[in-house]
Amino acid sequence: MANILIIGAGGVGQVVAHKCAQVAEVFEHITLASRTRSKCDKIAAMLPRKIDTAEVDADNVPELVKLIESVQPDMIINVALPYQDLHIMDACLETGVHYLDTANYEPPEEAKFEYKWQWAYQDRFEKAGLMALLGSGFDPGVTSVFTAYAKKHHFDRIHTLDILDCNAGDHGLPFATNFNPEINIREITANGRYWENSQWVTTEPMAEKRVFHFPEGIGDKDIYLLYHEELESLCKHFPEIERARFWMTFGESYLKHLEVLQNVGMTGIEPVEFQGHSIVPIQFLKAMLPDPASLGPLTKGKTCIGNIIRGTKDGEEKIYYLYNTCDHQDCYKEVQSQAISYTTGVPAMIGAKMMLEGKWMKPGVWNLEQLDPDPFMHDLNKYGLPWQETWLDRPFQ
Ligand code: NDP
Repeated sequence: MANILIIGAGGVGQVVAHKCAQVAEVFEHITLASRTRSKCDKIAAMLPRKIDTAEVDADNVPELVKLIESVQPDMIINVALPYQDLHIMDACLETGVHYLDTANYEPPEEAKFEYKWQWAYQDRFEKAGLMALLGSGFDPGVTSVFTAYAKKHHFDRIHTLDILDCNAGDHGLPFATNFNPEINIREITANGRYWENSQWVTTEPMAEKRVFHFPEGIGDKDIYLLYHEELESLCKHFPEIERARFWMTFGESYLKHLEVLQNVGMTGIEPVEFQGHSIVPIQFLKAMLPDPASLGPLTKGKTCIGNIIRGTKDGEEKIYYLYNTCDHQDCYKEVQSQAISYTTGVPAMIGAKMMLEGKWMKPGVWNLEQLDPDPFMHDLNKYGLPWQETWLDRPFQ
């Protein structure tokens, strides 16, 4: 039975704390720490059992080390922001603690989604006998495990991979993002990028659009090509993949708001001078937008995230669709959060469980598709994210 330290008390942190608290046979002792302690205390008060809370600036390595030395955790679940990843990894190395996150490191001054900074820790983690599990959310995370599962059980060779992320939920507000607005908008306003014939192809933001008929009553939705970080690790670990793309649904009104905000410079990440203060427009915009955590009670409808994989088995071509649907209101009933935080927080808990139970524990820095998908797939069904599979008769163009 383990002692864990969760860092980050936002939308995802709330779900991770709930789900770990529900699995007391693995997570015996829990500490939730974040920049603002009152947010940790608020989450702690919702839980079915007692946890500890603490305040920490995760960009300050000596402060982190001090906290880790006092808590003595077996591992850290990092659900703060991607900017903190390397600082928390440094503190884990200094104190001999295992590490997990849900999003790859991003330099604050540049919207760049690359694993190179974290993969560079491979030797240090391996030599220290420590494990770092990168990207244990839904996408990346479950979509990575889905790919590994498809390859293990259904394909000799994967030719194409399309990851489709649909949020068909409606919160009734004119404009809001479902997770941290700064991270979300940086991702969406960046160029699109996909892998084809051993090279990256770049597109203008939102330039590629399709319509896909989603299952379980969701129906037809517009879906746009984006770059997403799991494409990099999946193409590295499955070099046979000829084309890999990531798609996300957006409604017309959302895109119109975003276009206006971009046109007036509100999504910029460079500091500007305003009345003697230096402010970053996107950070000011974040302060003006609804807190994603406040969308929980408002959001109705479902998410559907999954992989369409075309490949061959015993010489025969097949098209496999593996997905999860999740209902926003069901999530709210269980953990007082909407489905975007839920679908990230549950896989973070399961990834930590895989490590602590020894099913995935091995020294080094790993992406989820490098590990045995079966126990993780089993736990998705058990802990709130059941998956469905079907065979399609037409490829996703
Ligand atoms: P939120 O903005 O809701 O929460 C982030 C939390 O981190 C806040 O509690 C914030 O504190 C805390 N924090 C920020 N900076 C620091 C710091 N320097 N030291 C300590 N704590 C800090 O974000 P989400 O919960 O929506 O997202 C959490 C993570 O999950 C992000 O990295 C995001 O990219 C990732 N994610 C991954 C997904 C996946 O499927 N893989 C999907 C969705 C999100 P404060 O409240 O004081 O600002």
